[in-house]
This record gives sequence, C-alpha cells and structure tokens, in this order.
Amino acid sequence: MDIQNFINGQYVDPASGQWLDNVEPATGKVYGRIPDSDERDVEEAVIAAKAAFPAWAAMTNKQRSDILMKVSRGIEARLPELAAAESRDNGKPLKLATRVDIPRARDNFAFFATAILHDSAETHDMGESGFNYTLRKPLGVAGCISPWNLPLYLFTWKIAPALASGNTVVAKPSEVTPVTAALLGEICNEAGMPPGVLNIIHGLGGKVGAAMTVHPDTPAISFTGGTTTGQTIARTAAPMFKKLSLELGGKNPNIIFADCDFEDMLNTTVASSFANQGQICLCGSRIFIERPIYEKFKEAFVERVKKLTVGPPNKETTKVGALVSKPHIEKVQSYIELAKEEGGTVLTGGNRVVLEGEYSEGFYLEPTVIEGLEYTCRTNQEEIFGPVVTLTPFDTEEEVLTMANSTMYGLAATIWTSDLKKAHRVGSLVESGIVWINCWLVRDLRTPFGGMKNSGVGREGGFEALHFFTETKNICVKL
Ligand code: NAD
Repeated sequence: MDIQNFINGQYVDPASGQWLDNVEPATGKVYGRIPDSDERDVEEAVIAAKAAFPAWAAMTNKQRSDILMKVSRGIEARLPELAAAESRDNGKPLKLATRVDIPRARDNFAFFATAILHDSAETHDMGESGFNYTLRKPLGVAGCISPWNLPLYLFTWKIAPALASGNTVVAKPSEVTPVTAALLGEICNEAGMPPGVLNIIHGLGGKVGAAMTVHPDTPAISFTGGTTTGQTIARTAAPMFKKLSLELGGKNPNIIFADCDFEDMLNTTVASSFANQGQICLCGSRIFIERPIYEKFKEAFVERVKKLTVGPPNKETTKVGALVSKPHIEKVQSYIELAKEEGGTVLTGGNRVVLEGEYSEGFYLEPTVIEGLEYTCRTNQEEIFGPVVTLTPFDTEEEVLTMANSTMYGLAATIWTSDLKKAHRVGSLVESGIVWINCWLVRDLRTPFGGMKNSGVGREGGFEALHFFTETKNICVKL
C-alpha cells in the first residue's frame, strides 16, 4: 500500500518525488512506499496550518468538540480496517490492535473532545481592588512526532488535545509504521475538519522531524520516542524557547514481594513482560523477586513463557507477533549476546524463530528470560525494547529500591505485595512517573502520564495535555 502526505485536507506526493520502502514485519518483505519528505513538505504543511489557525482557534470549544467526536466515531466505524492495517504495518497481533490500539485511538479523540468542554478558566476575586481572570490561549501550530510501537494510539494521544485546545497541527508518525496515520486524514475530512487543521507528513526523523523542530512557526513540539532523539530535539528547541513535551525511553522495574497474590502477579507479569513483543515503553523489563519466592517464581514464570506462541500477527493463536523491523530485531539480539558476555544465563528463549512459508523471513524472536546479571551491567541499565527480561533476587526493601532506581530512566514501576503500607512506601520512593500496585497498564485518561529523569519532560493526559498546548494569560481588572 502506497501512502501520501496529507496537507490542507488533500493527499499529495512529496516535493522530492522520492519514496521509501515500507516493510511488513511479519514477512520481512516490502509491501508499500511512503513519501521521503523533507523541509519543503514541512513548510507547505506549516503554511496550511497557520492559515487554518485563526478560524479553528476562534471556534467555540463545543464546535471543535463536535468535530473531534465525529473523528472518534469515524475511527470506530473503520476499526477492523484500521486494526488490520496497524497489525500488518507493525507486526503486532491483530487481536491486540483490535482490542487495544485502535479503540484507544478512538477514545483519545472522544476523551479530549469531552475534556475541553470542562476546562474552565479561573477567576479570582481581589475584593475592592478588582478581580482577575486567567485565559488559556492556543499556541498556533503544534508539532507532534510519534514512534512506531503504538502507532495510531500515540499519534492521536498528542493530536487530539492539541486540536481540542484550538491549535492546528503538523504531525509526523514513525516512518516504520505510517499507514494508520495516513488513513486518519480521510477520517478527519469525513468528520468535517476544515482543511489545514491537521497535516500529516511522512518520512525520516532526521529530515521531517528535524524540519518540524527547527521551524520558527511551530511554538510547541510534543514528542514520544527514544531518549537520544529527545535530546536532539531539546538541543534544537531550547534556544528558540519552544514548549516541549518529551515522552522518552524506560527500563521499568517490576518489584515482586513474597507476600503478593502469586497467581495474579504471575499472569500479569507474563503480559507486562511480553505484550506487544515487549515493545511498550511501560513493559517491566527488570523483574526483582524477593528471595524466598525467587525459585518458585522462576520455575513458574519460565514454564509460562515457554508456552507463549510466537506466530504471524493475523493468526488467532499468536501471543507474540513480529518485532517491528530488521534493525530492531538485530539490536534486541545483540543485547541477548551482551547479556551472555556479562555473565547472564538464558533460562528460555534467546533465538530467532523461523516460521513457515510466506512468514519465513519475518522478524520473530523467542520471548527471553535471563538471570544471573549484576543490576549495574549494561543489559540491566540500557533500554532493550523487546521481548527480553532479566530476573534478579533481593532481600530488603532498601536493596530493591537501590537496584530499581539505579538507571537513568524513571518511567513506570510495578509493585506486587499484599502489605498496603509497604506498597505505598515503596511506591513513593521508587523513581518513576507512573507506579502500578498489584496491576499493570491500568490507564485512566484523566491522570498524568510521563516519566522522571531521562524518561521525559512534562506529562500527557487529562488537563495536563490540554494545558501543555496553551499559553496561560492572566488579566487583572481594577474596578
Ligand atoms: P525514535 O526516537 O527513533 O523515533 C520517534 C520519532 O521521532 C519517529 O517519528 C522518528 O522519525 C522521529 N525522529 C527521529 N529522529 C528525529 C530528529 N532528529 N528530530 C525529530 N524527530 C526525529 O523512537 P522509536 O524507535 O520510533 O520508538 C521507540 C522509543 O520510543 C523507545 O525508546 C520507547 O521507550 C519510546 N517510547 C516512549 C513512550 C513514552 O510514553 N515515554 C511511549 C512509546 C515509546
């Protein structure tokens, strides 16, 4: 499937006339082309977005909300088609795209369409000297840049609040998974979104993303992706005083105390380790187990992991699909080799899976469990972002907190215990923007989402997302 850029409500070819191959992870074969866009396409998109801004910003919240609700319903109406496209483009199991990714994209629009109706400004009574009130004004053209792991889910998580609060948008999905973003343009047109309000440019990050970041008319950049890319964006944007929201990498601890509900913990830990092939920024990649249950956990966990079926994304029985790309699977494999060099023992997995027929060149990897590593080694410090977890025993709360907090990341932590005091104590001390106690990836879109340390700057979700895309203005009136 070939796709085009979406500028001013129309699908157009890139200025360069050049195209990039789009590879299907399940087969390893090229199945379409995407625009190899550059700064000229970004310029066209920013011009369209700037022209559309005054009228879009001047609409009432209710008017914008109505259009965003129609986009949400448009996603719902095309859910099977979008899920199939997402699964094919990314390699994730079709079931996951159908149950999680596309419904969440639908909900992102519905949520911010509703939230904007409840975002009231504040007025302060100053007694005899008057009163003052605070307005939140949209910024102009917002730049939204998203990664490949949850393509439409994360793309819309940025676009929906930016549009709801009155900005127009130039957006760039990952070049590895661009197809559902391309389809979103059709849905926005059908919903009656005015031309130029949302513009979508495809291509490489170093060209399109960089051009969006450096453009003088994109006062805000909302980015989700790797920490190194986040640093590059921050370097460019800082001297221009742009607003920046950065959602970056993670190396999340999963802390298991001996007094937890073992079955519940085991079921969830299998999912939190290997959902989406371990390619969710929230996956628990370092599992710390209190020593009295270490052996019991290891045995039960490895047995369960061995039973996870690796297969084509569109097959009903598949639990673990294809990794997203050849460079990515090679990177993950190199970390498994590194773990061995660092003294780790592979308890299960570690190898490529070669499927039959058309899938023989797909990017499949066994879910992998490793033990026997120091918590300070590279395998336990660097983000792998694949189906690889490490097991480490611990004896005390203090020790596990030292190990959990030892990385440069601080995105999401999971804690398993039936002692509520301990849960809250550890939850408050673990360096992490999100903490799940006795659960994982239970999301409420009203809550702030984001990481500490090198996992990011700022928070998405709820009113925090709406406020990021606005400038606060206080007006004081003397009576
Ligand atoms: P990436 O940083 O390589 O790319 C992300 C996006 O940025 C892509 O659209 C890419 O084209 C673009 N980009 C690349 N170079 C750029 C540049 N110089 N300027 C502007 N844009 C540029 O990340 P990825 O490999 O697509 O995604 C995986 C990473 O995303 C992992 O580190 C993962 O942890 C992270 N992630 C974080 C969250 C979160 O919420 N914190 C969520 C999902 C993924």
